[in-house]
Amino acid sequence: MHRRRFIELGLATSGLALGSTASANDNRYRPGGPWAPNERAVNYSGYLDNEQLGERLRRLDERSDRIELEQIGESAGRGDPIWEVTVGDGDERVHVINQIHGDEPTGAEAMVEILQRLAGGSGPKIDRILDELTITIVPRANPDGANFVGEDGLGDDGEFRQRRYNTTEWEEGDSRYKNENSYAYNLDVPGYDLNRGFSIIPGFSPGDENEDWWSVEDEEANLGTLDVPVDEVGLELQDGNPYDEIWNAGLNLNPETQAVTESFLGADPDWALTHHHQGPTAIPESADESPGPQRQSIMSVMAPYGPTHANLEDVDYASYVREGNPFMSVDAQTRSLQLAGLVPERMDQFGRGRLDTITRYAYGPLWGSYLDSLCPQTDAAGALYEVSHQSDDRGHKALGTMVKVSVEGIMATFERIADGSVHDVDEMSYFDLPIPEGIENPHDERGSPSQKR
Ligand SMILES: [Zn+2]
Repeated sequence: MHRRRFIELGLATSGLALGSTASANDNRYRPGGPWAPNERAVNYSGYLDNEQLGERLRRLDERSDRIELEQIGESAGRGDPIWEVTVGDGDERVHVINQIHGDEPTGAEAMVEILQRLAGGSGPKIDRILDELTITIVPRANPDGANFVGEDGLGDDGEFRQRRYNTTEWEEGDSRYKNENSYAYNLDVPGYDLNRGFSIIPGFSPGDENEDWWSVEDEEANLGTLDVPVDEVGLELQDGNPYDEIWNAGLNLNPETQAVTESFLGADPDWALTHHHQGPTAIPESADESPGPQRQSIMSVMAPYGPTHANLEDVDYASYVREGNPFMSVDAQTRSLQLAGLVPERMDQFGRGRLDTITRYAYGPLWGSYLDSLCPQTDAAGALYEVSHQSDDRGHKALGTMVKVSVEGIMATFERIADGSVHDVDEMSYFDLPIPEGIENPHDERGSPSQKR
């Protein structure tokens, strides 16, 4: 059995001033290390399994009348609960999802800590958050990927792993063709990338798809690309020239994306956050600033935006942006950039150290994703966090910092929406953040660092 030891470790280190003590320096990131030597050496016992997470949430619910806990679905393979937690009763509505990729676990860990603060904490900042915000959190959107046990992932004993995908197998009739951007058929146990599965079409149900949307590129593998013409999306185009087609929109085939979509529309949020992990990254040219190794970036932040902010002069976009998301209002674009821009402001308060290494995850529309598909449906602003390192390329050493940067960023977001100061953030500060470089993990057999979100 995997025993959970993270909370004890977290409490033991949370009193340290990060970056200012010898023990923190011993933990400092350096290019090339300290890596876990290989996948087997990664200790998953630091993470809550599905049962432990449910137990923690139930205990919080029992002890605090500020928290409402509801099961909103169950995972496709294991049938494990998908939880939703609501806290606060204010007019500003915030929706947060975590761990939609199973091997990106620290968002769920951070949520437990945040909920502990909101459920039991006191003081003017907490009071204001509870008064001004209604926060709806899905702590773990992909229980199958988070808790993959044994050969088929569905066991109770056997090797415990985490992986990106859920465990649904595509079946004839689920959709016209396998969607190559969402379905991973070439795994021992196939599954879906759930952050490619959301539909931007309001009210879309599986089976509503049109044969004309598919362009099949490989008949043998029966793959396909789902291109939805923009005039069939049904949302109001906000500005600029839209794409003719929305490439790889999602089909909402899985119970996980269905539960998250319902949760989102039920919450009707003004603001949306989603938490992920990326590969290891470094701040460009950081070794030139001071002696010593190049500084690694603990987290990248991303804001989705539309044509207004996708065509500015003197901005380094450095990726495939095209026109941005044409369904986002200018107001939602601006607020999204402010959500991302407030994160490095918060980390500056900790001084030069591991938290003060926030970089920019370059945005381009990803049509099956939570932010690009759902935000335009409620005119929500969005932000995405990409903590560096998947759960299988770091050991315990980095876990506390990964959770810490997530907790601080999200708490700062709640505080600044609650006191209104989010609107004071210079939205252009997001574009001032450097786009990080990928770093090779010497033990990573998967090759180049993943930059998927
Ligand atoms: Zn991810």
